[in-house]
Amino acid sequence: MDPLTFRCSCCGRVITGLPDLAYDAPLHYHQLPEPERPERANLSSDLCTIDEDHFVRGVCLLPVQGSDQSFGFGVWVSLSQENFRRYDETFEDEDQSKLGAMFGWLCNRIPTYPETVNLQTSVVPQDGRARPQIWIGEAHADHPLYIEQRTGITRERLGEIYASEVCDRRKNGDG
Ligand SMILES: [Zn+2]
Repeated sequence: MDPLTFRCSCCGRVITGLPDLAYDAPLHYHQLPEPERPERANLSSDLCTIDEDHFVRGVCLLPVQGSDQSFGFGVWVSLSQENFRRYDETFEDEDQSKLGAMFGWLCNRIPTYPETVNLQTSVVPQDGRARPQIWIGEAHADHPLYIEQRTGITRERLGEIYASEVCDRRKNGDG
């Protein structure tokens, strides 16, 4: 498998390998005033509860056009209380795909796209303790994230995403 390369859209540097863009928590957690978090929220690397709301972390995969690789956004979705309970109870199981797909609301704002918070998704638990796959729902068939998830993402778009979130030259203001 050849290493994937693309160009950062802000500085033109050639980047090798896929950018890593994952969120440590759902947006709702960051919106919670920090002093209230210990009492109202419970956050781990994969599960989050805020008051009566429940969230899990998954991966929204986009195939990279012209390659055999996929780029993944590590994002959070909210689940119903019942589905969260089922997910939590089977979290250690190797065959968690047995749960089948569940409905979730996307709970992160992904850069370079129109609003992504509260997109309807299908959350598909995986076997082998992999994070669940998150598929944008058909209700959003005209949303670029829905389209790119199915038709693939170009290397140019990878460069835009990299520039917006990862590139240190832009962050330092010298890009
Ligand atoms: Zn750059």
